[in-house]
Amino acid sequence: MRLYVDAAARAVALEEDVADVLGSSYREVSVQVPLRRDDGSLLVAHGYRVQHNGARGPYKGGLRYHPEADLDEVRALASLMTWKTALLDLPFGGAKGGLQVDPRQLSEGELQTLTRKFALSLSHVLGVYRDIPAPDVNTNAQVMAWFMDAYSGRHGYSPAAVTGKPVDLGGAPGREAATGRGLVYVLEAAARRWSWDLAGRRVVIQGFGNVGSWAARELVTLGARIIAVSDVGGGIFNDNGLDVERVVEAVAAGGSVADADVGYTKVSNEELLTLDCDILVPAALGGCITAGNAADIRASVVVEGANHPVTPAADDVLADRGIRVLPDILANGGGVTGSYFEWTQNIQQFQWKEDRFNAELRDRLDRAVNEVAAYAEEHACTYRLAAYSIALERVARAVRLRGYV
Ligand code: GLU
Repeated sequence: MRLYVDAAARAVALEEDVADVLGSSYREVSVQVPLRRDDGSLLVAHGYRVQHNGARGPYKGGLRYHPEADLDEVRALASLMTWKTALLDLPFGGAKGGLQVDPRQLSEGELQTLTRKFALSLSHVLGVYRDIPAPDVNTNAQVMAWFMDAYSGRHGYSPAAVTGKPVDLGGAPGREAATGRGLVYVLEAAARRWSWDLAGRRVVIQGFGNVGSWAARELVTLGARIIAVSDVGGGIFNDNGLDVERVVEAVAAGGSVADADVGYTKVSNEELLTLDCDILVPAALGGCITAGNAADIRASVVVEGANHPVTPAADDVLADRGIRVLPDILANGGGVTGSYFEWTQNIQQFQWKEDRFNAELRDRLDRAVNEVAAYAEEHACTYRLAAYSIALERVARAVRLRGYV
């Protein structure tokens, strides 16, 4: 994370005092969340909320439940949110939360209790105009509903304090699909600039959670061919294209994509990344494309659905090989943009129809893609460097204007 930010700081000649402020977090909260498990044993989980920078508005970012979501990871992802919200020109700062547990090992009741305790232990640093959590890896609308309910019990009913809620509780129609759908809007806008046709393109997607599954569905409507997908349970491949709806059904029934096997070839998560394709969408966890496999990537475009899936060393290799990368802060920015729409609707106590949500989403993402592409063309740099440079300049201006330095 720091290497990407440093490269942009050099490119925009960021003043040292501002760089010093942006080089660390504003606040890092670390909490202990003890849970008496269903079997009577005690689990002492650790949770974090890192608020990186709030110069442009309330802190904003998701909560992930994962054994590896430690303070280092959450800190890096909080900083990533600062650049993402700035690049999308949303009136938010950047934050991230993590609870170091494996939710697959927990019952639904345990998950709810843990979520409520986590919410209460963070509630003093959260709020509608302070810090607004959302879903991330292994969290969803139900987790946000519990979180919002616990927060509201202490502060009064506050739907705008959390985004990514169920539609029945003030969630915005369109928000759930917004990250995956937004990723495709970003790809479409970039493809227009490159005079690239998406119809018939062969796409490989790693990760079939909220981002990967919605991206796959949206790509199918554009005539692209999804030839391989995977999740933690493994992957499936078919050069003639997978039946995406069938895979979605298998996953909805509680299984892995690998259970949708109807004669498809099985592939491992590692093999999947190096399959011959046009578009590769890493939409699972960070750090999957590294110096070790970047030379073997066979896609012409990598679209970062996950946060930080490409390490800086791998990024250099991809750039040298002429592989285009649509960076995370642009490619998956549809999620937090959708969260912004949800937050504004909650504050106004007004609900948009889904087609308005999608039209506004496309409009904002198109604008961001065109800004990044124009910057990259003007400075002859990668889209990543362009995206970070634009974001850094915006945050730096706000930091100065607010008198932080
Ligand atoms: N977790 C998502 C992200 O990484 C969404 C964050 C939000 O909506 O606040 O962008």
